Amino acid sequence: KDAAQEAELTDGFHVLIDALKANDVETIYGLVGIPITDLARMAQAEGLRFIGFRHEANAVNAAAIAGYLTKKPGIAMTVSAPGFLNGLVALANATVNCFPMIMISGSSEREIVDLQQGDYEELDQLNAAKPYVKAAYRINHIEDIGIAMARAIRAAVSGRPGGVYLDVPAKLLGQTMEAAAAQRSIVKVVDPAPAQIPAPDAIARALDVLKNAKRPVIMLGKGAAYAQADADIRAFVEKTGIPYLAMSMAKGLLPDNHPQAAIAARSYALKEADCVMLIGARLNWLLSHGKGPTWGGKDHKDWAQKKFVQIDISAQEMDSNVPIDAPLAGDIGSTISALLKEIEKNGFNKPDTAWTGSIAEKRDANVAKMAKNLTAKSSPMNFMTALSAMRDVLKTRPDVYLVNEGANTLDLARSVIDMYEPRKRLDSGTWGVMGIGMGYAIAAAVESGKPVVALEGDSAFGFSGMEVETICRYNLPVTVVIFNNNGVYKGCDVNPTGGADPAPTVFVKGSRYDMLMEAFGGVGVTANTPEELSKALAEGITSGKPTLINVIIDENAGTESGRITHLNPKSAASKK
Ligand code: ADP
Repeated sequence: KDAAQEAELTDGFHVLIDALKANDVETIYGLVGIPITDLARMAQAEGLRFIGFRHEANAVNAAAIAGYLTKKPGIAMTVSAPGFLNGLVALANATVNCFPMIMISGSSEREIVDLQQGDYEELDQLNAAKPYVKAAYRINHIEDIGIAMARAIRAAVSGRPGGVYLDVPAKLLGQTMEAAAAQRSIVKVVDPAPAQIPAPDAIARALDVLKNAKRPVIMLGKGAAYAQADADIRAFVEKTGIPYLAMSMAKGLLPDNHPQAAIAARSYALKEADCVMLIGARLNWLLSHGKGPTWGGKDHKDWAQKKFVQIDISAQEMDSNVPIDAPLAGDIGSTISALLKEIEKNGFNKPDTAWTGSIAEKRDANVAKMAKNLTAKSSPMNFMTALSAMRDVLKTRPDVYLVNEGANTLDLARSVIDMYEPRKRLDSGTWGVMGIGMGYAIAAAVESGKPVVALEGDSAFGFSGMEVETICRYNLPVTVVIFNNNGVYKGCDVNPTGGADPAPTVFVKGSRYDMLMEAFGGVGVTANTPEELSKALAEGITSGKPTLINVIIDENAGTESGRITHLNPKSAASKK
């Protein structure tokens, strides 16, 4: 071949990169190795940002939360079989949480994999991925890269968002084609997440149900936060005058100190309401499936005879657990704006002050009760002492992202730390999963350039702790705060046999997590008192330097499984 002929050719590596760039992808979260190392190098050379991680689950978690924050699919990249499987857990988590993302994994030779002849890292990745994702595709020919990427993007963000798997055999990357034809094969997706406008009769039906309610309440979920219809959602809540609750990641969609916030009166509101409007929240385990005592029912199977209005982009979500009286199948932005138009035309009678007043009263009483726990100091610190210090600092910085995982650390922080801006709270989500911490924190910092605080239980941190090196390598403004009580749930269990092994829930006592951050050039601090914690946290946020605060918590503090102790199986046979 002469030089002129060579110059006209391009390869799979570059077509893939061009397809990403044509669709405004700026960042890839990944971990290199055979067969994607050169792909990552070339992506960087072509102006994409490649954020390299230490474990694939963290890279894929990062891509997932990038998708949630931006409404564009987050992109993750992994090597074959083991790297793919490491990433799959986070891809499944993204799908369960309705976060749009694409995990691109290198894979081995089809011919060898299909005959199970034992290739390097042999695994039928496409079929392994399928049960856990919204969609899974493989690209076999270089000519198909453009359309395959378009398909993956559309699958990730249209309708109910989710995780997409894209299988890239090693051979594909080395395939060549004429450069001009390759350019023509690239697809820029038009309107990747088309509006889904609910039918006018569905809007009328929903307003009818709401108007006839005596004690209505709105429940905002992370779907509502994802929709980025913040101003309209706020206008809808305020124009209807209906008290609202927020699922944890929807906190801050309206500021938690909004006069209509019923968050601190959640139990009361769910029990007493006669009508609940769900906006981007599923009636799953986090909402006790919409029935039983939480909802004022007699037993766990009892539908509590409430009216339900539900906005969800997935029509299939309706009637999943209890009958929905007024389903609004549509995207939240379009649906809320249609509801607002009707309200502007026909007016809306705000709920009776007997109802809104009783909620406000309950809320204020609960807040006062909690204030007592927050001011009661303990030495060594307990969760509430440490959280009260954190709350005061974070109140002054509503722009900070708060990543949160753990058992007690998650459950208590959720109710103590108020959020004032949308999409600033990122947490364990639908599965209540541990391990999202550093991946979410890194992507929040990369995507926003804003400071991030990752509030972690010591156990939760362990799942992604090695990424403190990644935080230091990219010099990200992340402050990791570890509530260290020496174990899972608490650190005071003992081995009943008296043997040398510690109890299953106990870690090395007095661990110096702060030194882990120092090992990579970041700032490590130990905080024994609320004052030390406040000071270190404020410094971490303002300095923007990678910081880790090892917060010493009483090892006797903590409840088994936090607020979900009841989910642990109990045997009727075991009598103590
Ligand atoms: P939470 O855990 O906060 O209760 P869920 O993850 O259970 O929230 O529910 C989110 C819901 O929002 C999902 O059922 C999803 O289909 C829906 N959803 C996501 N994005 C949109 C959107 N743009 N418009 C309407 N519904 C959406």
